[in-house]
Amino acid sequence: MNTIIVGAGIAGLSAGYRLMELGSKDVMVLEASDEVGGLSRCVKKNDMIFDLGPHQIHTENQIVIEYLNKILQDDLLIEAKKASQWFYGRYLNYPMGLNDLLFGLPFFLSVQCFFDFCFRSLKNFFTKRDMENFETWVISHFGKKMYDVYFGPYTQKVWGKHPTKLSVTCAQERIAVQNMMDVILSAISSNVTKFRNHYHLPHSPYQKKFYYPRQGIGQLSDLMKEYIEQHDGKVLVDENVDRITKDGDTFSIHTAKGSVYQADTVISTIPINNLRDMLHHEENFPKPEEDVEFRSLTFLFLSVAKDSVTDNHWIYFPDKDCVFQRVMELKNFSKYTAPEGHTNVCAEIPCDYQDAIWNMPDDDLYTAVMDGMEKDKYLNRADVDGYWVARERYAYPTYDLDYEQRLSAIKRYIDRFDNLYSIGRQGAFRYINIDEVMLMGFDTAESVCKTS
Ligand SMILES: Cc1cc2nc3c(=O)[nH]c(=O)nc-3n(C[C@H](O)[C@H](O)[C@H](O)COP(=O)(O)OP(=O)(O)OC[C@H]3O[C@@H](n4cnc5c(N)ncnc54)[C@H](O)[C@@H]3O)c2cc1C
Repeated sequence: MNTIIVGAGIAGLSAGYRLMELGSKDVMVLEASDEVGGLSRCVKKNDMIFDLGPHQIHTENQIVIEYLNKILQDDLLIEAKKASQWFYGRYLNYPMGLNDLLFGLPFFLSVQCFFDFCFRSLKNFFTKRDMENFETWVISHFGKKMYDVYFGPYTQKVWGKHPTKLSVTCAQERIAVQNMMDVILSAISSNVTKFRNHYHLPHSPYQKKFYYPRQGIGQLSDLMKEYIEQHDGKVLVDENVDRITKDGDTFSIHTAKGSVYQADTVISTIPINNLRDMLHHEENFPKPEEDVEFRSLTFLFLSVAKDSVTDNHWIYFPDKDCVFQRVMELKNFSKYTAPEGHTNVCAEIPCDYQDAIWNMPDDDLYTAVMDGMEKDKYLNRADVDGYWVARERYAYPTYDLDYEQRLSAIKRYIDRFDNLYSIGRQGAFRYINIDEVMLMGFDTAESVCKTS
């Protein structure tokens, strides 16, 4: 039995790693780009390393921790998180704490937010909450004022859609703090046992600790690739799969270069729309044509000629007039990623594939980002001595209003093919992080071994 894995991001490499551990002999990973890692790769420029946005690994899952230790060994760092947000002309903590709400915001705004929250809470007590979409979910949990000044503009900027066009799942999964009461309780949580467990859930924004590889997040993928190759598996880069056919029990995987590989089992980690399009379909089982949507990102990497910009790992910029949504300083994750006298900053600019931002020339993007950074007193042009741009078409699965119906139709179509698994962030179309993607890869490898 042989297995081909399409895509060498964390999901594909984790599946390959576990297959090798379980003794599989014939495993090949095919990757379209010229390096492994996918979204969790590093870009190396001059003597500096950059990640595609902050990639801290938050987890309390013992299996993931065990594997991180096994793979990274002495290169696994444990960091104490520091994140902020630029709001109303000042830096506040992220997530916002009670102090920020009471003393960080303009006085009248705090009062308005407070009364609005009380009004909503009272209303929720007597009437059924309106939770039809992202907007109504936020208003019912935080109040209208907080939505108007904070969640509404930021959501529109990140997703490029009005919050009424996004699903409740998007709010439930992506809003770091689930309601105003969380903010209040967090201020006292360290003294109140009852709440402590809640704030130590794996993805709680109140988690203080995260894991990180010494040489940037890409080190994790590089080492998994090495392990697969040391155990006689193959990882081939520059192999863009463009068609998958099935004859009897055998899959044929065709690549853009003209190679054809055969496999009994295929684990795909590529965007689920693309997998659907690559599969040969029978006339009597029409292919669902409606796509699920992905949001894209453009990254601007800055080489800064000073030791440090701030001590934050990352900072959010919710202001709708500022082109970037977040900046990170990788040297604060690991001091080994930039030489002395320099630091490495990455700004994330949300966009849609082929829109004006996506197609913006690098120099114009640099100007737009630096205008925002100087205005918000983050960084001056005079301190920057180099910049580069990267683009990722498939950054975030977009949970719009009826994505679940479209996703189910695509999944039903793919599920007709035995021994074909579609996993990972793009393959499962789930907004999941490295720890969950690793577990998905391991679980899939175990299922493959059980059924073969
Ligand atoms: C800005 C940003 C910040 C993030 N921050 C965090 C964080 O702090 N913590 C965290 O845990 N997670 C974070 N994540 C999520 C994390 O990056 C992903 O969960 C993880 O990298 C997904 O891995 P994957 O293998 O599922 O998908 P991908 O990384 O997308 O891998 C898919 C691979 O398939 C390849 N491929 C696509 N099409 C083909 C084809 N036709 N043929 C061959 N190969 C193909 C791609 O090139 C890619 O390498 C972040 C993501 C983003 C975008």
